[in-house]
Amino acid sequence: GLLADKVAIVTGAGAGIGAAIARAYGAEGARVVVSDINGEAAREVSSSIEGSIAVTADVADEEQVVELVRRTVAEFGGLHVVVPNAGIATTKPLLETSLEDWRKVMSVNLDGVFLTIRHCLPAMLDSGGGSIVNISSIASTTGSALIGSYSAAKAAVRNLTETLSAELRFQNIRANALLPGFIATDLVKSHQPDLERALGLEAGGFDNLIAAKQTRYGRTEEVAAAAVFFASDQSSWCNGSSLILDGGFKAS
Ligand code: NAD
Repeated sequence: GLLADKVAIVTGAGAGIGAAIARAYGAEGARVVVSDINGEAAREVSSSIEGSIAVTADVADEEQVVELVRRTVAEFGGLHVVVPNAGIATTKPLLETSLEDWRKVMSVNLDGVFLTIRHCLPAMLDSGGGSIVNISSIASTTGSALIGSYSAAKAAVRNLTETLSAELRFQNIRANALLPGFIATDLVKSHQPDLERALGLEAGGFDNLIAAKQTRYGRTEEVAAAAVFFASDQSSWCNGSSLILDGGFKAS
């Protein structure tokens, strides 16, 4: 496989895009750490991936992130790939956003990415280098109504990806970002009614909007395929790049 003998941590891997990435990494021969704040979900995904382990961790909690990396190195003896995928969404206009609402999104989608990378880096350097695969979003490329804190966090993640590529290029660590469009996961589906109401659409109107522009939602496996590319030596000359995966949604 493309990731034979690589050790990979995927956060938020108990569902959606993270679970698909963990499965794809396992299929390419990686030893995968399936991590999620929802331990039961992580264990269930891990049980379908040969040689993987599940670790319960909240990426917004520094001690839990430190423990996640410690367990990984104790179990597999090193670390080469990290996908700080855990994320949450919001559908509030800024005028109704409290500091608490704001901090909740930032603590997972930005602090959580920083903490995960920060504590994985020493282990990756000890292992001779590797690859950071950040999960940004097409929401990082422009501001959009109702997802202000989410968009701001995703833009910051993209920016951070470039900082990492600049700081670590001489130490054999690459950092790249995936920018998915709408993928049919719980994250999107659970906010769909709110988005439709706020946009003045009828129930299910969001699907029509997507259909008109994109023809369909993306599949988690389509994001996972690109995550395999960025984790593997196939992308050896990609560093600091952002890859849009949206079926043409943004361009049209
Ligand atoms: P999802 O809701 O289906 O899955 C997210 C997983 O993260 C869940 O298992 C959840 O338990 C876990 N999680 C939440 N908070 C956590 C925390 N504090 N610590 C650890 N785990 C936590 O979401 P998804 O759609 O698969 O999203 C995954 C990533 O992809 C997110 O960063 C999201 O912003 C990004 N993304 C999603 C889309 C999309 O359309 N679905 C588009 C672009 C980017």
